[in-house]
Amino acid sequence: MPDVVVFGLGGTIAMTGDAGVAPALSAEQLVAAVPGLAATGIGVEVVDFRRKPGASLSFADLAALSDAVAARFADGADGVVVTQGTDTIEETAYLLDLHHAGPQPLVVTGAMRNPTLAGADGPANVLAAIATAASPAARDLGCLVVLADEVHAARRVRKTHSTSGSTFQSPNGGPLGVVVEGEPRLLNRLPGRTAVPVDPRLPKRVGLVTVTFGDDGALLAAADRLDGLVVAAFGVGHVPEDLVPPLADLAARIPVVLASRTGAGSTLRSTYGFPGSERDLLDRGLIGAGFLDPLKARVLLHALLAAGADRDAVAAAFAVAGSETGQGAWPWPG
Ligand code: ASP
Repeated sequence: MPDVVVFGLGGTIAMTGDAGVAPALSAEQLVAAVPGLAATGIGVEVVDFRRKPGASLSFADLAALSDAVAARFADGADGVVVTQGTDTIEETAYLLDLHHAGPQPLVVTGAMRNPTLAGADGPANVLAAIATAASPAARDLGCLVVLADEVHAARRVRKTHSTSGSTFQSPNGGPLGVVVEGEPRLLNRLPGRTAVPVDPRLPKRVGLVTVTFGDDGALLAAADRLDGLVVAAFGVGHVPEDLVPPLADLAARIPVVLASRTGAGSTLRSTYGFPGSERDLLDRGLIGAGFLDPLKARVLLHALLAAGADRDAVAAAFAVAGSETGQGAWPWPG
């Protein structure tokens, strides 16, 4: 039978307490609370890795996790599950995806209702995540996010609701599959993989600025301290005309990525021609995020810069990772 390693990082799924819940349960306690797990026959080992709210996880935590996951796969684990706070899953799962080149399933899950509440969803999500991590059907798909019996690609999934149990959605393309009678059923597959080497020796600071109505660009002044910037722009990649000169200056010094703040769809390349349009900004050196939403674009830019990518490699990587297939001339061997 397959062997799955569960890494517990904290989050609502592990939170209890009388004066407001906080991370308390160990990974052992989490897994022990899952009804029906023993009947699956899947061998489960647990690692109590962190006990933090999702909000306090750091790039250093995730680099250490990627190393620990890689070590377990090298030791022969068939699959890995990460349990953590849902607040940051859309970012951490994509970071894990970028740092996981192997075929084994790597699955992130969490819970929206903590263990003290009626209808807590943690045990069901852990069971579905373990079944997915143990399944040959989930191989070669990189990192997956499994909650509410849906299987999402880490690169596409977004947290779309503050409290709903079905908060995780993939607006571009829908979920890859569903969990039916305890088995993952994959309906769609992603063709391309986009792994970036992990290099924690190169800590980088990458910012995200959301452009807003009537924006005077005051926040861009802080970008002087950044190694890279993502701009969450209007619509298909538009900003107010007055923001063009400061963004062009920044793009001459650091990679500046142009994403859409709308939550779904791709940035465009060649449709609009006014000052502050996508054509104008790309001509001035900004890099289009394609289908990657601003949070994913920031994670990718961080991973690329931490791996030592220069501006051309960043642009090449976004052309691939921001496309609908994730296929093309990737800067590292696949
Ligand atoms: N509400 C969050 C969760 O679902 C809290 C956190 O991310 O730690 O886990």
